[in-house]
Amino acid sequence: MAIDLEALYIDLHRHPELSFQETRTAGVVTATLAGLGIPFEEGIGRTGVVATLRNGEGPVVWLRADMDGLPVEERTGLAYASTAHGVDPAGLDVPVMHACGHDMHVTALLGALERLAASTDDWSGTIVAVFQPAEEFGAGSKAMIADGVFDRFPRPDVVLGQHVTPLPAGVIGVRPGTQMAASDGLTVTLHGRGGHGSRPHATIDPVVMAAATIMRLQTVVSREVDPRDVAVVTVGSVHAGLKHNIIPAEATLQLSLRYPDDRMRERVLERVERVIRAEADASGAETPPTIVTDHTLPPTINDVDATARVSAAFRRAYGEAAVIDPGMFTGSEDVSWFAREANAPLVFWFWGGVDPELFARAEAEGTIERDIPTNHSPFFAPVLHPTIERGVDNLVIAAREWLGAGTTDSA
Ligand code: ZN
Ligand code: ZN
Repeated sequence: MAIDLEALYIDLHRHPELSFQETRTAGVVTATLAGLGIPFEEGIGRTGVVATLRNGEGPVVWLRADMDGLPVEERTGLAYASTAHGVDPAGLDVPVMHACGHDMHVTALLGALERLAASTDDWSGTIVAVFQPAEEFGAGSKAMIADGVFDRFPRPDVVLGQHVTPLPAGVIGVRPGTQMAASDGLTVTLHGRGGHGSRPHATIDPVVMAAATIMRLQTVVSREVDPRDVAVVTVGSVHAGLKHNIIPAEATLQLSLRYPDDRMRERVLERVERVIRAEADASGAETPPTIVTDHTLPPTINDVDATARVSAAFRRAYGEAAVIDPGMFTGSEDVSWFAREANAPLVFWFWGGVDPELFARAEAEGTIERDIPTNHSPFFAPVLHPTIERGVDNLVIAAREWLGAGTTDSA
């Protein structure tokens, strides 16, 4: 029986799960795979699932979809909006939403597997479908690798993946070379000396230290990075204190840093650390700040030849105008660990999920930033159609570039 992809997507959307907690999602994946008669193993890298579709001689193509949701309260107003909650790593109860569209990725990969499993006369080779946990932690692909994914399943000749994005539905964004930025996530603890809010002179105030640090950090990119280069310094979390009249002992900042390559990474990291230490010094801190790297993601670099093949196939299927170079995205991905560790080429593309009319209107009015919700927004809501169908087609078309083209019966 054919999979009802719309129902599958809506079910996943209603039931998002936080990183490394994707047990229900993995259950939906394995139940669907079982229905298709495709062999799989679960619990790879904690909650990951790997399915293998062998069909004679030929290359091994990895198709990867990530599965996790985010601690975001959905505000789309959709009939199938999530009201789910979860418990985050700090033990807090948080709302959960598929605000990055990973539910669309899972749906598209299952749809592609169904199509490929039903058309084995058209292609030969092996498809390894990787349903990866915890992309949002930047930790899921590494967890699967640590769990022996390369020893337990055929190693890839190519790794293919995709991400739904706020481009018009029907448009593909892909480029050779650096497609997405490298990033580091840092937790910085600024140590002061606590005391009574009425006696600031007897304290070392970490709140003021944090405020000065945050403002000064914004000069790293604006004053110390060549304007022709790309880098981002974001302070996404600030925590200090519990009450009006208590100066706390410490403040905690969480930073997200983005860059296209290792050279810029070194440059920005060195300057960020210098500012943090210097501001603590300027405040008279007795203990230097503690800086911990929570995660490091490499740049997502698309193989030039493999990307040319996939782009050409997309152009043949969808027309020249439907395939654009979106430039480097300053978001980051952990998909490339699979390709890097296996020394295989990677092609990672974006596909649009925005109503094309809405997008055209926002573009004409110059209000794209305001009116088109991006990934991680509480309003992020890809249109169901043709986003689902395109997501399936994309994977089938790209995979068949390696597995024998046959007839690409795409829309
Ligand atoms: Zn995301
Ligand atoms: Zn994502």
